[in-house]
Amino acid sequence: MLVELKDRLTQAIRDMKNATVVDESVVNECLNEITRALLRGDVPFHLVKELVNNVKKSANLNNLPSGINKRKILEESIFSELCNMLNPGKPSFTPRKGETSVVMFVGLQGTGKTTTCAKYAYYHQKKGWKPALICADTFRDGALDQLKQDAVKVEIPYYGSSTESDPTEVALEGLKRFKNENRDLIIIDTSGRHKQEVALLEEMRQLYEATKPDLVVFLIDSSIGQAAFDQARAFKQSVSVGGVIVTKFDGHAKGGGAISAVAATKCPVIFIENGEQLDKFEAFDAKAFVCRLLGKHHPAELVDRFRDSVSLDEQADLCQMFTDGENFTFKKYQAVVKHNYKMGPLLLSQVRDLQPNVQENVKPEQMKKYLIMMDSLTSEELNSSNPKIMKESRIRRIAQGSGCHVGDVMKMLEHYKQLANMCTRRKMDNMTRMISRGRM
Ligand code: GDP
Repeated sequence: MLVELKDRLTQAIRDMKNATVVDESVVNECLNEITRALLRGDVPFHLVKELVNNVKKSANLNNLPSGINKRKILEESIFSELCNMLNPGKPSFTPRKGETSVVMFVGLQGTGKTTTCAKYAYYHQKKGWKPALICADTFRDGALDQLKQDAVKVEIPYYGSSTESDPTEVALEGLKRFKNENRDLIIIDTSGRHKQEVALLEEMRQLYEATKPDLVVFLIDSSIGQAAFDQARAFKQSVSVGGVIVTKFDGHAKGGGAISAVAATKCPVIFIENGEQLDKFEAFDAKAFVCRLLGKHHPAELVDRFRDSVSLDEQADLCQMFTDGENFTFKKYQAVVKHNYKMGPLLLSQVRDLQPNVQENVKPEQMKKYLIMMDSLTSEELNSSNPKIMKESRIRRIAQGSGCHVGDVMKMLEHYKQLANMCTRRKMDNMTRMISRGRM
């Protein structure tokens, strides 16, 4: 994701931090590098200029008393101005589970609207909502079939018409049906064109007036860059856009598109989409995103990933395990590794950040191996939280049973000890508290 932008920004900050003295020329060089990085990321010039001016003003380096850490102040100021670029300070409307909300998706053709409607519905369905999809795209051939395919895959009801050509009629009929069925999240997919022409914008306006959605989401393709500014503004002038979703972040994302869309709509990015599959969809957190851009980790990212990939019951169990270090049995270890495997390497990379001693190379293949080894443990071993129980003969038996070497089993035991140790630490407590607090 945004590798070039990330490399350039982190390098600019690293150079500034490595300078012997942070004087005016070092500050200017750092800000010039940041300017170049953002312009190459296709962020509009006026926004970059504003960021640089704000950093200079807020860091106010010339008037700082001696002894103050200028590096830190400058870095924090850059961080907070980048966050401001992505956060207009006004939250988006958040649908509430159990109450009917209507969300309408708008954007140009090919942006990923139909795919994203299904992802948005699926994301909420996994959290216990009762979503439904309406295809009000009567312009593009095959739009209804595409929505139907995705909806059927994730078992979400859908409505569309292959004979009615008026999108407003279709949307109103769908709304009537799904409101009667007490669906709490009704999502309207709309049509697009290749550019923001008058007919499309007029169609959006009519649909908006007729359906009165609670939230209009503007979609922008992340590879578009600053052209997003004009697109977003054109849609905003026709309908009251309330949130932005940036699509195709797995491709040639530039970063400028997201920033431009936020600036033009004065609405926050609420989700990003990073792949064609229906689960490639993440809630967006500006701070976590900027942390990632600057090569730092942000706990919110882990917490979101955790919440999105683990069911509510499992979340409670895992939170319990993480804070229950005294009684961290091999069975609990097995569950934690299983979830790590499911969530991808992020959890462990974050955990390593908090606990630098945790094994460096626990890649998915390695986790899979550990899980196979765990299948060879007896119930006495699984229910034990004492690694000393694993005498040589048991280790040999596990190695044989799982087709591994004794050394591999030793490595797994070492990993178990590190996690057990980590689970007693305060930082982990804080993290699980965040997870529990944010449960929806
Ligand atoms: P619409 O015309 O705005 O409704 O766009 P579609 O939903 O039909 O998507 C256009 C194309 O983009 C399709 O081939 C999708 O599979 C693809 N697509 C959608 N989202 C993503 C994404 O996040 N990553 C990638 N690589 N492709 C995507």
